[in-house]
Amino acid sequence: MKAQKTRSQEKIFHLLKTLARSLSAQDLYVELRRRKQTIGLATVYRSLEALKLQGVVQVRTLPSGESLYSLVQQDQHHLTCVHCGQSIPIDECPVHDLEERLEQSHHFKVYYHTLEFFGLCDRCHSLHREPLSN
Ligand SMILES: [Zn+2]
Ligand SMILES: [Zn+2]
Repeated sequence: MKAQKTRSQEKIFHLLKTLARSLSAQDLYVELRRRKQTIGLATVYRSLEALKLQGVVQVRTLPSGESLYSLVQQDQHHLTCVHCGQSIPIDECPVHDLEERLEQSHHFKVYYHTLEFFGLCDRCHSLHREPLSN
């Protein structure tokens, strides 16, 4: 099943592909405007929702509640610091094989998976540790 993308969806798809990172709808809106592409914020949200249903775009939700969108092909996981909010990308995907097994055993077409690690980054960890250690 292949749904036809609208022009707005195409623009957002190409922008996500070009930037190759996760962005919020607001960031995408700003980037599009910088590129002289006039798409309203409501249309950005609607297009992202449609692309998500097509299995093209995936969403990550940060501890702040902000949603970040990226293309599904980017099987990328992160270590996210709950204190300063920085996300550190990691290169490996430990569930890649599991995904293939599940597709076969459950006859389920997996579009994407999410896997997030939350905690304290090195810098925040040392800041937090000091008051406890004396
Ligand atoms: Zn941190
Ligand atoms: Zn993965």
